[in-house]
Amino acid sequence: MEEVKQWYSTTETIKVTKSADICFDTTKRGQRKRKKFTSQKLRWSVQIAFLILVIVIGWQFYTFVAYCEAGGKGFYLPRPPGVESFLPISALMGTKYFFGTGKINDIHPAGFVIFGTLLLMAVFFRRGFCSWMCPVGTISEWEWKLGDLFLNKLPRRVSSLIRNIPTRFTAGLSLVFTPIIILMLLEVITMEFFKSPFFRELIPAFIVAMILPFAVPRKYWSDKVNDCIARAWKYSILAFFLQMVVIKIPVEQLEVLYERAPFMRVADIKMLKFFVNLSGIGLVVVLVFLMLSVVSKNFWCRFFCPYGAILGILAYISPFTITRDKEKCIDCGKCTKACPSYIVVEKKDHVLTHECLACYDCVNVCPVNGALDMKLAGKRKKINYWLYAAMLVGFFIILTNTARVTGHWYTKISDTEFILRSAELDNPKYTHKEGKFETE
Ligand code: SF4
Ligand code: SF4
Repeated sequence: MEEVKQWYSTTETIKVTKSADICFDTTKRGQRKRKKFTSQKLRWSVQIAFLILVIVIGWQFYTFVAYCEAGGKGFYLPRPPGVESFLPISALMGTKYFFGTGKINDIHPAGFVIFGTLLLMAVFFRRGFCSWMCPVGTISEWEWKLGDLFLNKLPRRVSSLIRNIPTRFTAGLSLVFTPIIILMLLEVITMEFFKSPFFRELIPAFIVAMILPFAVPRKYWSDKVNDCIARAWKYSILAFFLQMVVIKIPVEQLEVLYERAPFMRVADIKMLKFFVNLSGIGLVVVLVFLMLSVVSKNFWCRFFCPYGAILGILAYISPFTITRDKEKCIDCGKCTKACPSYIVVEKKDHVLTHECLACYDCVNVCPVNGALDMKLAGKRKKINYWLYAAMLVGFFIILTNTARVTGHWYTKISDTEFILRSAELDNPKYTHKEGKFETE
């Protein structure tokens, strides 16, 4: 089949496959969409609502800690349990504790409940959390959309090069560190390896690995390959945490941690202090991620987020899938161009990949009614974005509120205890090193 260019309006050119019935009128196979309130407007509204919620939680917790540090004086706001969603290691520990004992821990119960809810959401609704609710995903999306405003004005080759530099750099780092992390997980090497003479001898090889993604011609080493190598980071980080927290810590030790470890009881305050008093290096790292996210779509989410990694793996069993109807599709490629995860949607019958964020962006830009939709696997049933959003957000609200009314939401640590402990945060008993910690 020969491909031709066909003008559909004065402003856009789209490619269509030359065939008698679709060459000049897309409405013969499917009607053109008329859009009023699009899926993207609804998604942005949900994103903004959750971002505001997270900001309110952060402000409420900050106020609570200031009240505790003042010895229980000043403006009081109760500690928001949602703050525990910023303690991912505690959430992982809580998950193992739940499966090991059948109980929900009472130090950070909301952290476990939120994490468990996200895992179940991925099982049912793919990575809808990432594109509809996660505040980091929201900020990342705003950043690359801002970057697009500038990059789209540059010549295509230049903008493409700028977009790909962060991916190539991350791929180079991944070539160096992914094997090291795997060897550490297999306990072939330890932290001592970094001080050994053998490590220093490997440095030239690491430099070559960093250069390879930039130096090898694209026809032998495409940016798609770089993208896959770079994504290995998030799975390495996930594997590292699973090994350290889920595999290595026995349930009995978790019981001790929850009952008698002082550092667990102030983990949320320490986390706040970490972000409020960010070190120079921490600040540089955050700024680098923020800057790279402007030119590289969802930079943190695509390459580094261990949450995204685990949700993506679970999403394989989700019954919801972006499905393309080959009969109606006019091969315009708009879906592929719109996809923030660089999935070649126009070539797939079903988008069965851990990278699909269920953002509906591809469905939104598809010009032909019925050519691309979110569908229930194995059925022809189309899932409208309103229904999808209602199920996704409703599921989150129902599960977290069920935890609230059944008494698995609020920590058992009293305000009085928080006030006493926040006065002695510098005490060594609130630290832990290499798995060792004090008990009381
Ligand atoms: S395939 Fe569609 S729904 Fe999935 S991430 Fe890409 S644009 Fe979003
Ligand atoms: S499915 Fe993709 S390629 Fe096909 S018509 Fe829709 S946007 Fe175009």
